[in-house]
Amino acid sequence: MFEGLSEKLAGIFDQLTRRGALSEEDVNAAMREVRRALLEADVALDVARTFIEKAKARAVGAEVVKSISPGQMVVKIVNDVLIETLGSDAEPIDLNAAPPIAIMMVGLQGAGKTTTTAKIAKRLTERFKKRVLMASLDVKRPAAQEQLAILGRQVGVETLPIIAGQTPVQIARRAEEAARLQGYDVVMFDTAGRTHIDEPLMAEMAEIKAAAKPHEILLVADALTGQDAVNLAKNFDDRVGITGIVLTRVDGDGRGGAALSMRAVTGKPIKLIGTGEKMEALDDFHPQRIANRILGMGDIVALVEKAAENIDAEKAARAAERMRKGKFDLQDMADQLAMAEKMGGLGGIMGLLPGVAKLKDAMANAKVDDKTLKRQRAIILSMTPEERRNPEIMKASRKKRIAAGAGMKVEDVNKLLKQHRATADMMKAMGGAPKRGPMAQMAQMFGM
Ligand code: GDP
Repeated sequence: MFEGLSEKLAGIFDQLTRRGALSEEDVNAAMREVRRALLEADVALDVARTFIEKAKARAVGAEVVKSISPGQMVVKIVNDVLIETLGSDAEPIDLNAAPPIAIMMVGLQGAGKTTTTAKIAKRLTERFKKRVLMASLDVKRPAAQEQLAILGRQVGVETLPIIAGQTPVQIARRAEEAARLQGYDVVMFDTAGRTHIDEPLMAEMAEIKAAAKPHEILLVADALTGQDAVNLAKNFDDRVGITGIVLTRVDGDGRGGAALSMRAVTGKPIKLIGTGEKMEALDDFHPQRIANRILGMGDIVALVEKAAENIDAEKAARAAERMRKGKFDLQDMADQLAMAEKMGGLGGIMGLLPGVAKLKDAMANAKVDDKTLKRQRAIILSMTPEERRNPEIMKASRKKRIAAGAGMKVEDVNKLLKQHRATADMMKAMGGAPKRGPMAQMAQMFGM
């Protein structure tokens, strides 16, 4: 599905990564080409524009690392923006609810709704060991209910017995009751589609939603319809409210724009992708893997990530040296906090070191948690560089404004300043003492 876009991007970056130095004009020219490639792949105009703005801004502010070329850096930036556009993290179907968990499937006729319903039921049964009941609420298409029953037999999932003459809402109620009384974990509602969105369809979906009280409402959309699929998702979300999207026919030779625009336009995650007609042809949607498939530059991305780790190590060493000399200012503190966050918060740092149980307890006693780290950094980031170097120059009025800027109280600002002072003093007093490890520094920073 992403071959066309992938080839174009490869062409653009191939030229870029071979150059030694890049001017701003080089970057701009490359971004113009990326924008064109995105639009040709049928990515929504706004999404392409935002994409390029983000990538350009980051390219300008990017830290220069000696071991990699500017072109490689640009590839990494585009990769990151791509992942963010796709939604950053995989979001599977949410099964955290009291059973029977209701899943409602919506979408246009022929999008692959019935097929996908059976695919999901099969996966929930086999992989998640759930007892699933499926019900077709499609009373318009004569064979629809029978089609679901056939697929159910094929994948070994039960379907609600068909009673002719019932309305969709009646069937939904009957399915919910059967699932509840017979102890099913999940009940899936396959609704009727139309060839296009119309008022009666939306009214019916709203009615079914009210009766079925679904925990998930998944829109099934055909990736081959590109922009139309995106508009469809927006419409369904505005009218019915969806919790996620399943993109089908990703195995086809569509241009990929739908996959790239969906999340940005609707704010709703693509949860799964259909990759064929077979019942097994359903995959989780992993933004990182898809980005890698589109860019096809995993090696460069890994290289830059590695180099970035080195920057962090250099920064840490620099900060440690400053600490040792008693020159630990608020900027250093912000850097340390940022590093702590990057390493997965306190939990992440703890996990890296053996025998830190004692420190963990100490931090728990001091009520230091990840939220505290974030808040403290937010306060520092609201200060000017000059204030970070010389906190003494801050007057009460400035502190008030800084607190407001970080969404906190003046007391919080004062507390942070006190903490910083205590740390800096202690470091000064220790001047010349042997270098201390990052954990000890961190502990000190929190006044432990
Ligand atoms: P519904 O009207 O939305 O319920 O659509 P169906 O489930 O009946 O599917 C319509 C057709 O699309 C069937 O022939 C399916 O086998 C096919 N189909 C569904 N999902 C996919 C997919 O991910 N890839 C491909 N290639 N075909 C699919």
